[in-house]
Amino acid sequence: MISVAEALRIVVDAARPLGAERVGLVDACGRVAAEDVASTRAVPAAANSAMDGYAVRAEDVAAPGARLRIVGSIPAGSVQSEPLARGTAVKIFTGSVVPPGADTVVRVEDSEAAGEHVVVTIAHAHGANVRLAGEDIAVGATVVRAGQEIGPADVGVLASIGCAAIAVRRLPRVAILSTGAELVEIDEAPGPGQVVNSNAWALAAAVGEAGLPAPLVLPIVRDRFEDIRTRLEEAAEADVVLSTGGVSVGDFDFVKEALDAIGVERFFWRVAQKPGKPLTFGRRDSTLFFGLPGNPVSALVCFAVYAWPALRRMAGHARLHLPSGRAVLGAPVRRKPGLTEFVRVHLDGALPLPTAVPFRSQSSGVLTGLGSGAGLLVAPAERGALEAGEEFDVLRPGPFAAATAVSVLVAASVASPGDSC
Ligand code: AMP
Ligand code: MG
Repeated sequence: MISVAEALRIVVDAARPLGAERVGLVDACGRVAAEDVASTRAVPAAANSAMDGYAVRAEDVAAPGARLRIVGSIPAGSVQSEPLARGTAVKIFTGSVVPPGADTVVRVEDSEAAGEHVVVTIAHAHGANVRLAGEDIAVGATVVRAGQEIGPADVGVLASIGCAAIAVRRLPRVAILSTGAELVEIDEAPGPGQVVNSNAWALAAAVGEAGLPAPLVLPIVRDRFEDIRTRLEEAAEADVVLSTGGVSVGDFDFVKEALDAIGVERFFWRVAQKPGKPLTFGRRDSTLFFGLPGNPVSALVCFAVYAWPALRRMAGHARLHLPSGRAVLGAPVRRKPGLTEFVRVHLDGALPLPTAVPFRSQSSGVLTGLGSGAGLLVAPAERGALEAGEEFDVLRPGPFAAATAVSVLVAASVASPGDSC
């Protein structure tokens, strides 16, 4: 049996970033760039106005009260090639190119129209309210670097330089194989001793939440060595195989032997953790095999803790692990030292640290404890009973981190003074 840290190190080490593929910008967000992208264009292409107002010469508006003759108007999208003469101004709009000779823009709010003239009420510094050519992106500047995760602003930047496609790391394809003689499909009524195959659904959802393509979900396989072997061989065309069940020490637990039989190099079996102790992991060629335990909580926790960072690494990400934070335990947890325990908690409040309230049941069969917003409080292996008021790390699977960030923003805006509604 190995420790959680050792198991994680082995998993992350075995996962390698996949090759590159070219995708259109519409599919680029969230992907990891596989190439540097340098701009062949300057953005903005020419000096333009940051405001609605008047393009002027700086020396004409160095003191308040300047009176300039309005000689024209440049709506956005049109350009004026004649130079602006001294003592004159031209009406200009946000984004319009500043005409030659002009170097400064006076905002409408800092002026008073007077027939064919405009009076500039305040003094302006040279270059005020002008966006310079190449101020955002110079010709030749690198706008995206290999290894960088592409976000919405990067997509906008790429679009602004006319780059409609980019090379990114390929996303891993996942296959899911549910083993168990007791399992039935969702549309079958379970008979005595039978349970619905919920793991395939939960894992497929987790794969989707990770932003990966829909997994290949294989049919349920009974606890027969030959059948498991055949199905594992089929699943092996994926980049990552997630099997559930049949990895413990029961008479019908054939997954380990079947993995060995198809030539998977298994790096470990059994991790000093709860839930998920019987986890096994191996690799054949570049395909990773996670033999997840069958208990629904164990399967999902092992996915979050081990498969998630492996999948992230394959997709090229640098930040691999689940978001985590600190929380104060809200009630004691009885336990013995020996295993790292992922205690299912729900988090209450945000300031200064959230309180982690343990779910009523920590059984690995009780999946409701991992429901929306749940966190996994990490009880260190060497610790016995945990006391209320102690601080621990909490992993936050799924979109929980995003939800917290939003609630912090909402709380801040509600608290802002002068807010009457
Ligand atoms: P195993 O790891 O095969 O010993 O299974 C442990 C427990 O998980 C048993 O109670 C199984 O019925 C349950 N289980 C195994 N596979 C699934 C599955 N795909 N969906 C729901 N429960 C499962
Ligand atoms: Mg079983």
